[in-house]
Amino acid sequence: MTLTRQAEIAANLDRVETQIAQACEAAGRARDEVTLIAVTKTYPASDAEILAELGVADVGENRHPEAERKKSETRADLRWHFLGGLQTNKAAAVAKYADMVHSVDRPKLVRALNQGAESAGRMLDCLVQVDFDTTDPGRAGVEPDKALELADLVSQSDHLHLAGLMVVAPLGVDPEPVFAQLATLSKQLQELHPSASVVSAGMSQDFATAIKYGTTHVRIGRSILGNR
Ligand SMILES: *Cc1c(COP(=O)(O)O)cnc(C)c1O
Repeated sequence: MTLTRQAEIAANLDRVETQIAQACEAAGRARDEVTLIAVTKTYPASDAEILAELGVADVGENRHPEAERKKSETRADLRWHFLGGLQTNKAAAVAKYADMVHSVDRPKLVRALNQGAESAGRMLDCLVQVDFDTTDPGRAGVEPDKALELADLVSQSDHLHLAGLMVVAPLGVDPEPVFAQLATLSKQLQELHPSASVVSAGMSQDFATAIKYGTTHVRIGRSILGNR
């Protein structure tokens, strides 16, 4: 059973790796400019172990406490990325175990994460999640014209490190303009905060396009672990 699962994940990972390499080549980028985050949400810690054995260093989760439990059950040394919408009252807990939080989208959350990181005695890497789709107010992410202000707040927080920007392209629309806008905003951000160079964009269905527009971190779940 485990061997079968290992073979399945290995084959999927191989295919995704080839596609990432091809997209990098087409974009004139080096493969090592793009970090693969394997999104393990809904899948067990044993899959995270398999990924680690196959050379994956970064995994992503979108729910607390699932993420906390899975990290504690995983012996392999992995970087844990928190990707999901985050309630303020869960932020302090997440700040204790996450290596990078991708979904920072409001000042209250910045303060709660900073307090959590402070009481854990650590620094926490944070990305500001931006939403370019102004037609749907229900989506996570800060409006583009407020993103730099929120980034300033993160960078002024003693226990947070502003690492860059994140986007989730809306389903069912062409992601290309979204990734292009994010690239422009990332340039503006790096003029103010040169070390905030992470661009987290691209999922199973659109990572090749995101690579064309300069993403540094792709977040891929289904294509590696299977449909949820
Ligand atoms: C689930 C998730 C992903 C991975 O999506 P797939 O379609 O499974 O590749 C990426 N980013 C976020 C924020 C997610 O919640």
